[in-house]
Amino acid sequence: AKAGGRDGVMLFECAMLVDAQRRLALERELAVALDNGELAMHFQLQVDHQATPVGAELLMRWRRADGSMVRPDHFIPVAEASSLIIPLGHWVLREACAAWHALDEIGRALPLSINVSPVQFRQPDFVEKVQAILAETGAPASQLIFEVTEGLLIEDIDQTLARMHQLTALGIRFSVDDFGTGYSNLAYLKKMPLYELKIDKSFMQEAPQDHNSTAIVQSILSMAGHLGLRVVAEGIETEAQAAYLAQQGGACMQGFLYHRPMPLALLIEQLGQRPQA
Ligand code: C2E
Ligand code: CA
Ligand code: CA
Ligand code: CA
Repeated sequence: AKAGGRDGVMLFECAMLVDAQRRLALERELAVALDNGELAMHFQLQVDHQATPVGAELLMRWRRADGSMVRPDHFIPVAEASSLIIPLGHWVLREACAAWHALDEIGRALPLSINVSPVQFRQPDFVEKVQAILAETGAPASQLIFEVTEGLLIEDIDQTLARMHQLTALGIRFSVDDFGTGYSNLAYLKKMPLYELKIDKSFMQEAPQDHNSTAIVQSILSMAGHLGLRVVAEGIETEAQAAYLAQQGGACMQGFLYHRPMPLALLIEQLGQRPQA
């Protein structure tokens, strides 16, 4: 082999080592971040075609003691690889239940959506844990929507389905996150007890200019209509995108055009200011 090739391999191994060390450091930091109060939930309102809030998604935020932010895209995979996602996931559910009560107190209760990692969902005691948190907080399961990814719905189908039925029996509803980005096999759509599809923001961001994106958005809307599923379009940033969706028959919308993710205190303030629907 040429010397250049060997150097290339060494460089590659070196990069992997640095990467592994970074992940490990992040994992150690994350393990104490929750106890140190560095993690917080933000809430992003979802609206209907009249811009009336119809729900909110909880999104995790990590602000280190030095003030720097770590993006969820960056730390959630680390949490999943290290099983830290399990205590974090329980914490998110507790936060959702507490937030629901806080909104209910001002007469503004809304369904709250939380992201459930497949790692968390696959824990043998997941359903019991959810039940315990609901019992402990007294929040109504019917006001919770679990966002799951297509990957969860196509693997271990029997276990997934059994668990979804147990949770559905409690009143929890299911949403398919990032819909359209995962798999072409849509057989799971007719098998699984689903409530909603979330159109991935990558499609919305290219609509209405890009014909391929609008073709995909239209097919999702029509399919969801036939299957009786609610649709939430994510990543709505422009009036043109909102107008396009309205013209397509209207889906619920989530995006910076309407609301950015915000802390609970601000959400309470904003909802409290709106006239009662
Ligand atoms: P996601 O579930 O697809 O969440 C939507 C992401 O889109 C959020 O990014 C949100 O801030 C962003 N977003 C909303 N509206 C707009 C818009 O108009 N334009 C653009 N460009 N972006 C918009 P975020 O908060 O950075 O979260 C990234 C991902 O991290 C989430 O994607 C989700 O997969 C994961 N994540 C966040 N919080 C949690 C959590 O509590 N648990 C788990 N398991 N995953 C989480
Ligand atoms: Ca989501
Ligand atoms: Ca999404
Ligand atoms: Ca996403």
